[in-house]
Amino acid sequence: MSKQYTPTIGIEIHVQLATKSKMFCACDNNSRSAKPNTNVCPVCLAYPGSLPVVNKGAVELAIKLGYGLNAEIAQTTSFDRKNYFYPDSPKGYQITQMREPIIGEGHIEILVDNEFKKVGIHHAHLEEDAGKSTHPAGKDYSLVDFNRAGTPLVEIVSEPDMHSPLEAKRYLQEIYAIATTLGVSDGDMEHGNFKFDLNVSVSDSDKLGTRTELKNLNSFRNAERALKYEIARQIDLLEKGKAIVQETRGWNDAKGKTVPQRSKEEANDYRYFPEPDIPPLNLSQEFITTLQAEAKKEVLPISVRKELLSLGLNADEQDILVSQAKTRTIFYDAKIVVNNPKLEKKIINWLVGDYQAWKSENNEADSQLSGKHLAELIMLVDEGKISSKTAKEIFADVITGQQPSKVIESKGLTQMSDDSELESIIADIIAKNPQAVADYKGGNEKAAGFFVGQVMAATKGQANPGKANALVLKLLQEQ
Ligand SMILES: [Zn+2]
Repeated sequence: MSKQYTPTIGIEIHVQLATKSKMFCACDNNSRSAKPNTNVCPVCLAYPGSLPVVNKGAVELAIKLGYGLNAEIAQTTSFDRKNYFYPDSPKGYQITQMREPIIGEGHIEILVDNEFKKVGIHHAHLEEDAGKSTHPAGKDYSLVDFNRAGTPLVEIVSEPDMHSPLEAKRYLQEIYAIATTLGVSDGDMEHGNFKFDLNVSVSDSDKLGTRTELKNLNSFRNAERALKYEIARQIDLLEKGKAIVQETRGWNDAKGKTVPQRSKEEANDYRYFPEPDIPPLNLSQEFITTLQAEAKKEVLPISVRKELLSLGLNADEQDILVSQAKTRTIFYDAKIVVNNPKLEKKIINWLVGDYQAWKSENNEADSQLSGKHLAELIMLVDEGKISSKTAKEIFADVITGQQPSKVIESKGLTQMSDDSELESIIADIIAKNPQAVADYKGGNEKAAGFFVGQVMAATKGQANPGKANALVLKLLQEQ
């Protein structure tokens, strides 16, 4: 490569809102287990004469999301028709917001290589999803399911502020964490709750290059892979003196390639116009402020990240706590109980280590682990009442909801910290190992470690290692 190319990436994310009903009718918003075309009504099937009614719940969730995006909420917001013909759109248009979106300019912070970076949000708007078409292989027909038609979405449009596939991935992960933390979306990625389009161009000057759009991705990993591929493809074309065609491309996961879908010359003219069936919404400042205050009660992922970074956690460890709401709750509850920075790090170690290991082999729904119990377990080790080995052994019991001190009591696992009992065990070991005593006396201080190891073995790990060490040294001095 002879020139230095900078990629520029902008992202549009469709977040499905966690409302009970659809955007403009009373149909159930959850069609996961419904048979095709059973979750429909005259409104979402666009029967003549039917009228859409805005779902207040969707507006409320959009306001909460706006808080997470550090964005202004428009007091007056209205809807528009975006006209296009496609078989999965029963109306022949989509109700969206073009002129007066509910969420205005904002920004989020992302963490890349331990540094925080701002990414601008251009705006975000409410709209409805289309139905779903399937094209059975080898058949001369297509099938359409309208259960998804009319599902409420917020589309978040970023500024083109990202300059690497990793930054784009971090942005997606952060928006996902914000939306799920605030309860705005269930975030079920397999069911299309979180889909995104990536706009990417490369340039070797201040002028932006021709961009392509990678459509309809739904995995963070694939977003990063698709961007890497697409950036390399564009640079390769430029290096060969060829032009980049402005077009929509899809990601072929099996081939690990982006493939052209349609070029912009065939792009639709959407003929936007104000939706005549829905009057503009005038939101009172009180309504907005109340919802923002509710959203404020949740700890936003960026605060979690900043705190975790100060505790020395790397990005992967942070992701665990940021992306797992239950694990995060355990962390915060335990942190209040231990009330000690040194032990906070221990909470993290348990949660990203042993707890993830347990989760990979068990169902998280079966976990009864509470912050209170985890804190107790950690403090029992810290106070020398049990060894860390014992703590690991009883962790599975603690996850089933049992109190650590009760488990220890019922299993007789209390750590031996009685000096006289330990002393007699050590004296016995010293008597049986004259050579090691001689080594120690001869200046080999490592020999003391041998005795501590023997003590731990003799007590099956129940001795307090610190105490055992101190007593071993004391008794060796006396030899
Ligand atoms: Zn309906």
